[in-house]
Amino acid sequence: MLLEGKKGLVVGIANKRSLAWGIAQSVSREGARLAVTYQGERLEENVRKLAEELTDPVILPCDVTRDEELDALAEAVRREMGSLDFVVHAVAFALREELDGEYVQTSREGYRIAQDVSSYSLTALARRMVPLMEAKGGSIVTLTYLGGPRVVPHYNVMGVAKAALEASVRYLAADLGPRGIRVNAISAGPVKTIAASGVHGISKMLEYHRRHAPLRRNTEQSEVGDAAAFLVSDLSRGVTGDVLYVDSGFHVMGMAELDPAAS
Ligand code: NAD
Repeated sequence: MLLEGKKGLVVGIANKRSLAWGIAQSVSREGARLAVTYQGERLEENVRKLAEELTDPVILPCDVTRDEELDALAEAVRREMGSLDFVVHAVAFALREELDGEYVQTSREGYRIAQDVSSYSLTALARRMVPLMEAKGGSIVTLTYLGGPRVVPHYNVMGVAKAALEASVRYLAADLGPRGIRVNAISAGPVKTIAASGVHGISKMLEYHRRHAPLRRNTEQSEVGDAAAFLVSDLSRGVTGDVLYVDSGFHVMGMAELDPAAS
């Protein structure tokens, strides 16, 4: 198995549709032992129930906006697992009203929240988890979307947060590379999760994606999971600071159709 004997932390499971859960399933199938987190008591039961499928999981609370919870998480992971080989960050949030209409209407508070939860949290998590990885080296993976480097209707402030997240991946890769720690992102095509449902018009986005992606289908949770298993494994040992697209090839298209009636 690809990840036999490896230990990882997965942050961002809310329910069975979460991309983080797809990743947890893939890396666990490949032999990794996991610590998984839940954001607040509301999600604890969901995560505990899902984690019954994992082998000897560690289940811990973590709100990424609270430094004391991140500190406690690092301490608990050290106590329960000793060290880590990889960290998966699959967390994002923006106020619902910011994910509709025009970006130009973004509020100061809406901007701050999106950046804090969806972008800074990667750096905040990395700061705490690097000491658990640096003895042997490791891999950090986050999740991003095409709405960062390009404009996607209604993605708005979350696109700006993803652009900052992708820049963070590059800066973290440069800082942590000399310590043997790699940092990469997976840019997933749209998948109907709780987070994605907050974006106005998500069903139309899914349909557009399915019609225009080279593979002519939507992205599946398991495809993201398997790509993450690759990025946290030694198979990707030469890759850092990069964004791997798992989107049926959608991002390579410049113009999808000349005659809309033909598709
Ligand atoms: P999801 O709703 O299942 O997961 C989002 C997670 O973020 C949840 O587990 C939620 O608890 C967590 N979260 C939000 N605020 C938090 C906080 N303050 N502290 C701790 N956790 C917090 O949705 P998802 O689509 O699986 O999202 C996971 C990641 O994938 C996000 O970064 C998202 O932007 C990214 N992504 C999703 C898609 C998609 O279409 N679903 C596409 C590309 C990238």
